Amino acid sequence: MVRIRSVRKRFGPLEVLRGVSLDVPDSGVVCVIGPSGSGKSTLLRCVNRLETIDAGRIWVDGELIGYREVGGRLHALPPRELNRQRAKIGMVFQRFHLFPHRTAAENVAEGPVTVQGMGKRQARDLAAELLERVGLADRAHHYPAQLSGGQQQRVAIARSLAMRPKIMLFDEPTSALDPELVQEVLAVMRDLAEGGMTMIVVTHEMNFAREVGDHLVFMDDGAIVEQGVPREVLAEPRHERTRAFLGQVL
Ligand code: ATP
Ligand code: MG
Repeated sequence: MVRIRSVRKRFGPLEVLRGVSLDVPDSGVVCVIGPSGSGKSTLLRCVNRLETIDAGRIWVDGELIGYREVGGRLHALPPRELNRQRAKIGMVFQRFHLFPHRTAAENVAEGPVTVQGMGKRQARDLAAELLERVGLADRAHHYPAQLSGGQQQRVAIARSLAMRPKIMLFDEPTSALDPELVQEVLAVMRDLAEGGMTMIVVTHEMNFAREVGDHLVFMDDGAIVEQGVPREVLAEPRHERTRAFLGQVL
């Protein structure tokens, strides 16, 4: 479903991704861990083309992201095409970025109406269905400021799902939350995973990685240092750098 091949990315003199390759099969859940600055967010941002890449290729759902290849040469896609590709890729960030002057239901319905041209009534039904799915049926008419952080993050997940994405990217979706609100968001993510969603999850939640992840990737300094079955990587890391990192976070 997602194929990342030899991706390189630099910001000025700093090479942030140094040839990253990763496969996520259909319905696979890959968790990504690693120290601050190792390139985790940049990798996710490259997958949905919030960042351009300097080398390599990324495919989502069989489609080359960001480019059209003609006779072995890459041509950048026009914005319209990029937006169409992005709609297949949901992303949830550490901060929720909800529209403050819209209710939970309006936040969820916004994308389908403005981007996909869905009718208002249908979008309202979809929003109700998705808010129910994230356990917020009774909060549909609340504004973000009237919701807890965990509830806002669940609205953000419902809003992403409203675009019917093929894959979901999560960038530390629980690290801005008070500890008591973390589990309700992880439960929604676990539910999504069990429902067969293909996911890449950057997280510090090692229990989630162990229990929900099919595959765990440890990144350091712009490269994948170690990867494997989460339980095995966490219990018996082979690399010194993985051991040092896990020693700090576990
Ligand atoms: P964290 O755990 O703190 O979120 P991360 O692994 O997600 O870290 P990235 O955000 O991907 O790390 O950043 C990787 C490196 O790239 C860092 O050194 C960061 O300062 C740098 N970087 C990220 N975005 C930019 C940018 N837009 N311009 C310049 N440098 C950037
Ligand atoms: Mg990050």
